[in-house]
Amino acid sequence: MKTVGFIGLGIMGRPMAKNLLKAGYSLRVCDVNPEPVADLAALGATPCATPRETAQSVDVVITMLPNSPEVRQVVLGPDGVLEGAAPGVILVDMSSIAPEASREMAEAAARKGIPMLDAPVSGGEPGAINATLAIMVGGDAEAFAKVKDLLLTMGKSAVYIGGSGSGNVCKLANQIVVALNIIAVSEAYTLAAKANTDPKVVFEAIKGGLAGSNVMNAKSPLMFARNFKPGFRIELHRKDLRNALDTGDATGHPLPFTHLAFDILEKLIAEGKGKDDHGGIVQYFEALTGVTVE
Ligand code: NAD
Repeated sequence: MKTVGFIGLGIMGRPMAKNLLKAGYSLRVCDVNPEPVADLAALGATPCATPRETAQSVDVVITMLPNSPEVRQVVLGPDGVLEGAAPGVILVDMSSIAPEASREMAEAAARKGIPMLDAPVSGGEPGAINATLAIMVGGDAEAFAKVKDLLLTMGKSAVYIGGSGSGNVCKLANQIVVALNIIAVSEAYTLAAKANTDPKVVFEAIKGGLAGSNVMNAKSPLMFARNFKPGFRIELHRKDLRNALDTGDATGHPLPFTHLAFDILEKLIAEGKGKDDHGGIVQYFEALTGVTVE
């Protein structure tokens, strides 16, 4: 497992690919945006024109793309990964996509002798840069055993969840918790501001108690600084909640709070805030209350 094809060099993929290079893996890279491809090439990676070319002469192919349609295009489409990869190559999709899409693609890949894992991550851009991502893996257990060390080059944990699609089910659970946590923090801080109490002092007072959380610690300083540069874009979080709601429909779970969170993100996107970091959810509550959390 020494040569890796890496497709999708955005906010997450670029630093993840850099960590693989640092760890001594030989890399072939591809993105529709030439800028990060040139950046990685300057560090020693081989630039490739198509996913098919990226998947040639490698042991593993990693994809880190926005959502199911992009992964389908890159894996199944013309000039896609399945056209280039030899049988036995392991395909690891680290994007957060619909579990059903993961299962369908894993079946198509298996027909060509290519085991496909869904291995989405949590930990955001800092986790990608510092190689401290939490990686949740669904699919073929033997393939997971073969790539576990490689995954741990990019993360601090890689947990096998179960069959194909279950990595992305786990990620949907993660995204519900994160969205509702940001919403709770935002509602609480705007209440504090409305009641003439400094949200920053509230944060200091409660972060060590039961209400404290990684989300509160990561997002509060950014909210107070009005820093909504992504990070994780609101439009991508909307995508995850959409996938969660679809999975809820398919399994018979009404997900009442996820619906509420989805509507809040839709409103922010309609106001042109889709490219803000999801810490920018606080702006929804600021608009409701007329106060700002600073
Ligand atoms: P991003 O939009 O910054 O990166 C996606 C990259 O894919 C871009 O560079 C884009 O040019 C490229 N791309 C799109 N279509 C392509 C195609 N057909 N062929 C080749 N390249 C293509 O997104 P991101 O923030 O890096 O997120 C990637 C995935 O990771 C998403 O599924 C997201 O939900 C998930 N994720 C993001 C974060 C985060 O904090 N940003 C955290 C955890 C998980």
